[in-house]
Amino acid sequence: MKISEVMSMPECHWVKSHLTQYLDRDPSAPLTDAELRRLEVHIALCDKCAAVSEDYRETSKALSQLRTHVDQESINRLSDSLKRLTSGE
Ligand SMILES: [Zn+2]
Repeated sequence: MKISEVMSMPECHWVKSHLTQYLDRDPSAPLTDAELRRLEVHIALCDKCAAVSEDYRETSKALSQLRTHVDQESINRLSDSLKRLTSGE
């Protein structure tokens, strides 16, 4: 693959549309080995896509930490008020 191909906009678009599959290792829609390599090569060469994948990684890490820090009681309270709201009381 030529550098000009790797840096081209359509390639960035392709990488971004497959990034969640790549970073989440989505088992329902796994990437092929060739697609994995294509993503890794592009991210290694393209600052923009590297930044996007870094952001995504940080965000999903923060989200999973948030989930584990919320205790069950708060979740119950939240779902209770939601139920009250939706039942119109
Ligand atoms: Zn890119």
